[in-house]
Amino acid sequence: MLIDVHCHLTAPEFEGRNKEIIEKSVEAGVKAIITSGLGYEDGLKALEISDYRIIYPSLGMSPYMLEGYEQVMDLIRMQSKRIVAIGEVGLDYWHVKDDEGRDRQKRIFREFIELSKELDLPLVIHSRSAGKYALEILFEMKAERVIMHAFDGAAKYAVRAVERGYMFSIPPSIARSQQKRNLVKRIPLENLLLESDSPVLSPIAGQINYPWNIIVSAEWIGRIKGISVEKVIEITGRNAVEILDLKL
Ligand SMILES: [Zn+2]
Repeated sequence: MLIDVHCHLTAPEFEGRNKEIIEKSVEAGVKAIITSGLGYEDGLKALEISDYRIIYPSLGMSPYMLEGYEQVMDLIRMQSKRIVAIGEVGLDYWHVKDDEGRDRQKRIFREFIELSKELDLPLVIHSRSAGKYALEILFEMKAERVIMHAFDGAAKYAVRAVERGYMFSIPPSIARSQQKRNLVKRIPLENLLLESDSPVLSPIAGQINYPWNIIVSAEWIGRIKGISVEKVIEITGRNAVEILDLKL
């Protein structure tokens, strides 16, 4: 099953185009799309466009835009039965360089991890330029249901996360990223998922990305592991259903 475990259908790039994008995705064989709301307003939109046939919501916020995070936590609590994951949440050391800002990110990240345990929801983790640090916190807090999205850290840290059953979702930008290919080499298929992160992380730099481009991720995984793309789609689909507890 082709499942896009992480994207942003509520992004301004897709304004007024959701119907068309869903249709094209279904045509391409995509069975489910997890759209991630970033912040309160966007979270409400993600809930609104979710039809629970193709589109399922996840609620979180960018770690470098944490204004009003308490409100997002309240929304997650109130809607916990209607969402499939908390995320993205995490750390971003690319956007935030100062200690004070990073400490704040860590403190709020811990609160989201706590919340995911309380509600028994999986986490989708953003960890730009902070893979090692995000994993340290997740390990220390004994988080169990974890998807590392578009992980940009070293493969050696990812391997430690695999030992704990963490999943890694691979975006179509693998087509232009040696780091992502190294990651796929080191992570077993049982721990891989497909994500588009659309509208960003397109296979071609500068282009708008779409959910159906997860096929590009699947093709690259197949090529690297020497298995058919069908096998990749089957196993990553099964992995997605399992960790997100999807009722398809
Ligand atoms: Zn994202």
